[in-house]
Amino acid sequence: MTLDPPTLLALSVALAAAAALYLAIEWRSVREPSLLYWSAGFAIIMVGCVLALLRINGLLVIGIWFANGLLILAHCCFLLGVARFTEVRLSSYWWLIALLWGAMLALPDGPSWSKTMMGVQSLLVALVSLRASLLLRPHGVSLSVGAVQLRYVLLLHGLFYVAKALTVVLPGALVDLAAFRGAIIQISLIEGAMAIMLIALSMTGTERYRREERIAVLAARDPLTALFNRRALEIRGPVLLRNVDPARPGAALLIDIDHFKLVNDLYGHIAGDRLLVALSETLQALLPSQALAARLGGDEFIVLLGNARREEVEVLAAQVRERFARIAQQAFTTPAAVTLSIGAHLFDQPPASIGALIELGDAALYQSKRGGRDSLRVVDATCAWIPGT
Ligand code: GH3
Ligand code: MG
Repeated sequence: MTLDPPTLLALSVALAAAAALYLAIEWRSVREPSLLYWSAGFAIIMVGCVLALLRINGLLVIGIWFANGLLILAHCCFLLGVARFTEVRLSSYWWLIALLWGAMLALPDGPSWSKTMMGVQSLLVALVSLRASLLLRPHGVSLSVGAVQLRYVLLLHGLFYVAKALTVVLPGALVDLAAFRGAIIQISLIEGAMAIMLIALSMTGTERYRREERIAVLAARDPLTALFNRRALEIRGPVLLRNVDPARPGAALLIDIDHFKLVNDLYGHIAGDRLLVALSETLQALLPSQALAARLGGDEFIVLLGNARREEVEVLAAQVRERFARIAQQAFTTPAAVTLSIGAHLFDQPPASIGALIELGDAALYQSKRGGRDSLRVVDATCAWIPGT
């Protein structure tokens, strides 16, 4: 196969069309605007390549500036897509690109015209690509694998265009844009086809990784309180508790709101929801390290502690109860106080299962409820003897 300009352009048309279509189909299911911008970018590249092909075959002669202008426009779409993806607002100065390109067209059509046009076009494409790559740099937020890949592909693409702009000024460089002649043009057509493929792949990867992350978060969290749900607890709990031993005892605190139904009945379900959220925020604010909180369902929550002695458990439970009772009392007047009952089960070896731990914690919670609510009951299954003491 000879890699002559028509073959390379035909290849680019096929790749750009496939990328535009794929990203548009992805957009239909995800509705992420960045995908639409990226799809539009590839559609524009496809149109530009078709125009260039027609021009080579003498079928349609539109000024070569048009196809080159389309390439800049396509990269602007990529930049807009990256800006949407990273939620960054672009400065309005980017519109100056259109003005600059318009000014180019006013240049007299002399022997250096082709070189000037390619130099300016390359610099503009480089600028836009490098800006997009810069937007994807890590800034406190960890980037997904796809986004990191896209960042480097855009960086290399931008640097290629910087080099291309520089070669224009090399003595003896043959650049004939209108006839697609010259080594620089041949190389950039090859780079173009490869870049389409790599950029398209990393863009789809970028969105896919983000979607998978979102799905993983949705699957692990309770939708109302954003605490872990039972499924996540079953996965994360054993990891947290695997190092429990007599020197590092563990604890499971089962927490249930007292007289919660009164809030629902007197103030409505939404007020009840707000109280559940307030409890989850209280738990998150007071949790020590090596702990996790989850909502088991209804008004029942669990806290697992990976390294906590009895005194620490008692202090934590007292703080949670106090803070919650204050919030509930300030927000609602009820015939019976809306407080917390807590059952704590302390242990000094990893539990057989999270289900077994919940049962033991529930037994302690039941005692607390039977004892009149608004209290902590502790069942201590740790041995008094600690190695080394
Ligand atoms: P007790 O003192 O014995 O714990 O009684 P309680 O009134 O707190 O009621 P109980 O714990 O037996 O039942 C929990 C109630 O929580 C039952 C249900 O109406 C309500 N509930 C369950 N899920 C939700 C929810 O997502 N939002 C709201 N607002 N209420 C819920
Ligand atoms: Mg309750």
